[in-house]
Amino acid sequence: MPEGDTIFRTARALNRALAGHTVTVFESVYPALMRVDEDAPLAGRAVVGVKALGKHLLIEFSGGLTLRTHLRMNGRWHLYQQGEPWHAPRSAVRVVIATARHVAVAFDVQVAEFVTARGLARHAVMAALGPDLLSETFDEGEALRRLDRAGEMTVAEAVLNQRIVAGIGNVFKCEILFVCRISPFRPVASLSDEERVALLRCARRLLTANVAEGSERPPAPYAFRRTTPFVNPGARLWVYGRPGRPCRRCGSAILSRKQGPDARLTFWCPLCQPQPQEPGMTPSAEGASGDVSAGGVGRNAGLAAARTRSRVRGRVREPTLRPGGKLR
Ligand SMILES: [Zn+2]
Repeated sequence: MPEGDTIFRTARALNRALAGHTVTVFESVYPALMRVDEDAPLAGRAVVGVKALGKHLLIEFSGGLTLRTHLRMNGRWHLYQQGEPWHAPRSAVRVVIATARHVAVAFDVQVAEFVTARGLARHAVMAALGPDLLSETFDEGEALRRLDRAGEMTVAEAVLNQRIVAGIGNVFKCEILFVCRISPFRPVASLSDEERVALLRCARRLLTANVAEGSERPPAPYAFRRTTPFVNPGARLWVYGRPGRPCRRCGSAILSRKQGPDARLTFWCPLCQPQPQEPGMTPSAEGASGDVSAGGVGRNAGLAAARTRSRVRGRVREPTLRPGGKLR
């Protein structure tokens, strides 16, 4: 799923190609968009700019009209030179914006709407967004206040909640909590002030590191993301997508489990991210319910490994583990 870093890089690539240029063609499969285009044609308008706000991508046109898209699970924007073949089927096309030199195509984008400048300011979803982690003017104090109101919500659900902070998706959720050594299942209320500040700063650092200058094209969601310092391209992430594999810090098997009302898959290391023990709680209680997958031991090891292989396509190689748990 595209996260804040993907949207940020996509917006930057689209902005460089389209801003200041005149729209020559606008098409969409969405009748609501085409109605606006019939009343006040997009062709002939200039693209004023493209920006990301959390996970929303905003394309502003002259005349006070903005196209808001949200990529949800599978949506993506591609950018092509005029005449270049497209890398996705026509049946997946939702929106096309062409200029004399470029064609921007939204594939499988499910949320697309035109909003006026005034409508944007009053937009219910946009107005409720928490501070944007990738914004240069990120308001840490406001993010802390919103986090404080999360109370008994688990920290994994809280960081995914775009009304608390904007920009974190499921991959970064898992990675940030691992780096901060915080169990995803702890209620926010149990976090110390230091842990909350460390969490926000870590989120900002990891997201920002993933929007460094690169290709001019919008990125594929998983092609570039990296949260570890390892050179090995197969070791870009700490825990996400690695159930049953050894933790890159301690060698324990990474666990995974569906979490929260949306049943998003959480990956974590039970040793690096301990759940503070409550009276009467057994050491295994954390992973005792739900859809737990912790391969690498006993009869299920082969199955879990196969599952891992099928989930993480294109991985090059994991770092191997020496006896004693040191990473080679
Ligand atoms: Zn570990």
